[in-house]
Amino acid sequence: MRYYLGLGSNLVDPRNNLARARRRLAANGIKILKTSSLYRTEPVGLSGQPWFLNQAVLVETSLSPWQLLRLAQRVESEMGRIPGPRNAPRVIDIDILLAGDTIVDTPSLTVPHARLAERNFVLVPLAEIAPRAVHPLLKKTIQTLRGASSDRALVEKAPSALRPDSATAKTRPRSG
Ligand code: AMP
Repeated sequence: MRYYLGLGSNLVDPRNNLARARRRLAANGIKILKTSSLYRTEPVGLSGQPWFLNQAVLVETSLSPWQLLRLAQRVESEMGRIPGPRNAPRVIDIDILLAGDTIVDTPSLTVPHARLAERNFVLVPLAEIAPRAVHPLLKKTIQTLRGASSDRALVEKAPSALRPDSATAKTRPRSG
């Protein structure tokens, strides 16, 4: 089964945290098929905290939605996430955004993710890798939902990582 996941982090070293989360998911048998760019996103809800780095990922696994949620929560806690209020700063957040046409509506799990259509930090990365995926309840594509979003929070593509030689270039002793 294919799932779109949303990854987010705004503590310590967000870029590295997202990479660690992807590696841990892969080490648990989750096949990562596609990754969006990384996006810097303005915090929603609680102000005064660092901007987030967010990414959408397409994965394939035989796990059920509940098994995948349990794995995501295990990865979050292994990476040091302390349970806290929604929208609070976090080392890593792993959300199940979409599971094809599957609809889940239980106290512990809602798929498609309940706030998917209201959040630019989810819609923008997801629209990059799944513009034509259809939200099975709203019956609209992600691209359409992104265009219709009334969320004003800023989302911008993160600069690509420093090239390995750009850090050393400054410290290399001058010759001659
Ligand atoms: P959050 O603080 O956004 O990580 O929310 C965590 C809580 O949301 C957990 O208690 C999950 O059981 C619940 N939850 C409901 N639906 C989802 C979903 N689609 N993906 C991840 N967590 C979910």
